[in-house]
Amino acid sequence: MRDIIKRMSAVIILSAIAMLGGCAAAQDTSVSGSVYAMDTVMTITINAPSDGEALLRGAESTIRRLDDMWSATKENSEISTLNTLGNAEVSTETAELISFALDTGADTNGALDITLYPLLRAWGFTTGEYTVPDKALVEALLSARGAPEINGTNVTLPVGTQLDLGAVAKGYAGDILCEELRAAGVTSALLDLGGNIHAIGGRADGSAWRLGLKHPRGEGNIAVIELNDRAAVTSGDYERFFTDESGRRYCHILDPKTGFPADSSLCSVTVIGERGALCDALSTALFVMGAQQAEEYWRKNGGFDMILITADCDMLVTEGIAQDVRPVDGFTGGLIILDR
Ligand code: ADP
Ligand code: MG
Repeated sequence: MRDIIKRMSAVIILSAIAMLGGCAAAQDTSVSGSVYAMDTVMTITINAPSDGEALLRGAESTIRRLDDMWSATKENSEISTLNTLGNAEVSTETAELISFALDTGADTNGALDITLYPLLRAWGFTTGEYTVPDKALVEALLSARGAPEINGTNVTLPVGTQLDLGAVAKGYAGDILCEELRAAGVTSALLDLGGNIHAIGGRADGSAWRLGLKHPRGEGNIAVIELNDRAAVTSGDYERFFTDESGRRYCHILDPKTGFPADSSLCSVTVIGERGALCDALSTALFVMGAQQAEEYWRKNGGFDMILITADCDMLVTEGIAQDVRPVDGFTGGLIILDR
């Protein structure tokens, strides 16, 4: 897809969460640009001083640099090289991302698992040529995998093991971008990295950013979220999926215990917190776990808020974010606030 960097007065994108409305109070100082990277459209809006365009170009080049390192499908990325050779020297950022993902995998009892690349390929999720693989193949690919080893910036993968960082890369990329923008003096920006939202401060007039959370089973939004200075990351079964002749849905998030698409009765999980990498990792992991285990994980660990939407379109919202989440008019599901 052709890359676009241009000024826009409003941002309309199809992603799990999207910014609502423009920046009415300071439209003239806001710059916005979109770029296609990490398999998605990324849009950055900066309430900028005079150097807004330069900041956008800097952000774009950071996104491209990270995509070129972390993509499992680009031929010469660090991850592709590692997957082909089984051992490689990687950059510090890549080593950090892999270790973070492995730690979170252990912490979530294996619900987050970055060694699923052979399975994702067998299902066609890496190319879009979807197919339901043989159960025997799924089991063989699952059991062929071993644990990656990291020694400083040297990574070794056991035979049969290949990495896919799709569940964490955008979140970590968002953290790196926010750090760069903050270091450049930006105090108000919204990064929409394909439904991974990172807010720096609030809007130019000081009010919170207003985001629409997409309805997982219908048109438009299911809720509006107000967000200030935090990340909000959604994983769902409604953006990348296919159905078979019987109408059964197969989504792109796999349950590492079975090698089949997660079937946990959740259709959307949004995690809100300070670090995008953690929000991204947890949105995937909690989606795999399902509502009950996700709630238990939140009670035990805390440090983040979440919005779970069940297959019946009930909404479970943790108390820390409850005041900032409003179901849209016409929402007919149940709204459950989880408090401690
Ligand atoms: P998205 O990338 O659509 O925002 P996620 O952050 O939930 O959604 O990441 C899903 C991607 O992560 C999949 O496309 C796949 O590449 C990879 N993946 C699928 N299942 C898992 C899993 N259980 N653990 C880690 N990565 C996964
Ligand atoms: Mg994720």
